[in-house]
Amino acid sequence: MPLAAEQPAIRRTVKVKKSFTRRAAGPARYLRPSCQIAFLALNLWIGFEFVRFVHYYESGGASPRVTRPPGVEGWLPIAALMNLKYLIQTAEWPAVHPAGLLLLIAFLAVSVAFRKSFCSWLCPVGTLSEWLWKIGKEAFGRNWKLPRWVDIPLRGLKYILLGLFLYAVGSMTSPAIHAFLKGPYGQVADVKMLDFFRHLSLTAAITLAVMVALSFFVQNFWCRYLCPYGALMGLAALFSPARIRRDAGLCIDCAKCAKACPSLLPVDKLVAIRSAECTGCLDCVLVCPVEGALKLSVGRRRSMPPWLVAAGIAVVFFGACIYGRLSGHWHTLVPEEVYFQLIPHARELAHP
Ligand code: SF4
Ligand code: SF4
Repeated sequence: MPLAAEQPAIRRTVKVKKSFTRRAAGPARYLRPSCQIAFLALNLWIGFEFVRFVHYYESGGASPRVTRPPGVEGWLPIAALMNLKYLIQTAEWPAVHPAGLLLLIAFLAVSVAFRKSFCSWLCPVGTLSEWLWKIGKEAFGRNWKLPRWVDIPLRGLKYILLGLFLYAVGSMTSPAIHAFLKGPYGQVADVKMLDFFRHLSLTAAITLAVMVALSFFVQNFWCRYLCPYGALMGLAALFSPARIRRDAGLCIDCAKCAKACPSLLPVDKLVAIRSAECTGCLDCVLVCPVEGALKLSVGRRRSMPPWLVAAGIAVVFFGACIYGRLSGHWHTLVPEEVYFQLIPHARELAHP
């Protein structure tokens, strides 16, 4: 039996809970999945156009000519990191894969503004990963949670991988970066990446199959343990003034937020989530039954509802694309004859 003094507070909470369920949770629920589907569709279209672009050169110009979609450079994170270093050191925009650099800057900006939201709102790999564990949960009734002593060291793996990439890029001088990206391998790095998937080696195919299989059972297996790009976004998010905040005065300790969190964060126990693992997915906010008890906010007052996060991500992403186009830093300028020379033999090109 609750004490008499607690009864009005409980009644008030139940009232708030009913009104919240009717007013807020509805349409907001569909925002993030809609963004994920739109971005996945965009990437599929980019992939399709890029295959047609490559086929034109492989066929010696016999198939229809297609313009190279610059968005394919979003799949070249190491080239983007090299270009970022080159830009910082020389103040010059790179000529090869400039769109990749702009996309990297945009995704880092999104992560600083809205936590690691690139991973949960945009990344196609993150989307597929999320669908896989949801299918697994539906099929088997639950997902596995690895024991802490396995989970914590495994989570470190993505930072180790990121560290290796940062070390490799960091040890290159800007003339070396320029020479690499302007060289044959750098110019067709996107075709090499396509070839990796088109001519999957047995080892790569088995690794991919294991990743997919594990993703059914463990939530976001790839993203949580192995993705160095996500690790970079998580480190950027540590500089974010925005975070999930819980109002302990309003919270009724139902733990629904913690149960909904795909990053397995103890949202119901903390006042503010500072973890680099928080992807700003807002799933916790959407399931919270008490209006105002949980929110993504900058400081204590300025809360960011899901529509604002979606709008902010769209402004940053399209802003970067438009800036790239208007400023001439969007298309990679490789002469036609060089593509005719390099693309049909891209598979034979060894890493310098
Ligand atoms: S559920 Fe909440 S705490 Fe968990 S990752 Fe999403 S936004 Fe962050
Ligand atoms: S913050 Fe979490 S524990 Fe508190 S009411 Fe909301 S969902 Fe329940």
